[in-house]
Amino acid sequence: NRQIHLVSRPQGEPSTANFALVEAPVEALADGEVLVRNHYLSLDPYMRGRMNESKSYAQPQPLNEVMIGGTVGEVVESRNEHFKVGDKVVGMGGWQEYQRVNASQRGVLQKVDTTHIPLSAYLGAVGMPGVTAWYGLTQIIAPKAGETVVVSAASGAVGGAVGQLAKARGCRVVGLAGGPAKCEAVVNELGFDACIDYKAHPDLRSLSKALKDACPDGVDGYFENVGGMILDAVMLRANAFSRIAFCGMIAGYNGEPIPMANPALILVNRMKLEGFIVSEHMQLWPEALKELGTMVATGKFKYRETVAQGLESAPEAFLGLLKGKNFGKQLVKLV
Ligand code: NDP
Repeated sequence: NRQIHLVSRPQGEPSTANFALVEAPVEALADGEVLVRNHYLSLDPYMRGRMNESKSYAQPQPLNEVMIGGTVGEVVESRNEHFKVGDKVVGMGGWQEYQRVNASQRGVLQKVDTTHIPLSAYLGAVGMPGVTAWYGLTQIIAPKAGETVVVSAASGAVGGAVGQLAKARGCRVVGLAGGPAKCEAVVNELGFDACIDYKAHPDLRSLSKALKDACPDGVDGYFENVGGMILDAVMLRANAFSRIAFCGMIAGYNGEPIPMANPALILVNRMKLEGFIVSEHMQLWPEALKELGTMVATGKFKYRETVAQGLESAPEAFLGLLKGKNFGKQLVKLV
């Protein structure tokens, strides 16, 4: 069983030297356990936070152990009556080819139906990123039809879902993404009303002007994935009683300072700003997954995947994710 371990903690930007490829034996199963051959590994920005020593909302990733991560795969051996060989499953298998897991604990391993939904989508649109989009949009922004919703990292796994869920609720949807190719696809493939290439607007004045043009009625809801200047620019266009869902601050994940330029706007515009962690709202996952699953199964939901080949490519692909080299959900294909 090939695995990738975290072997040192990055200062600032991570590098491939922080990881090591390790060969480990697969031990015989105990009662209640199953062996899963992981087919896809999900790479997610939160993993950067786990690489730090400091305690956050979750414990740090221990050194010299398998990197954590979501996986989908197939049961290849079972000593658990609820799972049989051939079952397709989603779990937290980590950066490794095989996962030996005690499947008796509730929620550790979920069977998934791949009749109408591809297995990999359970790591994206019909998985954690999709639910993240659904939660921040419906529970924090709670947009009304006709309102304008803005989302940063719009071409990503979360951002693409935010925009499509908001369109389905009758909103005007404006994205921000890096580069003309991403922006073109956000509008023409994902169906956003407009998308701003933030890299073409390197100062606050210019970015806020672009937002003004794209949001003639101002901004009622903002789904924040990035932080920094993008947040400042959106805040300058925020309407009275607008809402911001704080989902991610990827611009600061390597330790860059991302101060907020004008917090007085929160008061002046009577805004609501709320952060959330999707895994703390498990009771809403079934409702979110039902909507997302139906949209994907009926072809109403569009998504892209960037797929790196082979476990050994995971560290490089993860570094790429933090630099915007991915387009849509970043996966590693293991089989
Ligand atoms: P994405 O697929 O969106 O990939 C990350 C994207 O972020 C990159 O493609 C890049 O797009 C953009 N990006 C990277 N660095 C910067 C930067 N310095 N400035 C602006 N944009 C940048 O990832 P996800 O959809 O998986 O995650 C999106 C956000 O949601 C992240 O912040 C993540 O941490 C957060 N999240 C939060 C959860 C929660 O429970 N709160 C759960 C899941 C995700 P581009 O080329 O456009 O710059």
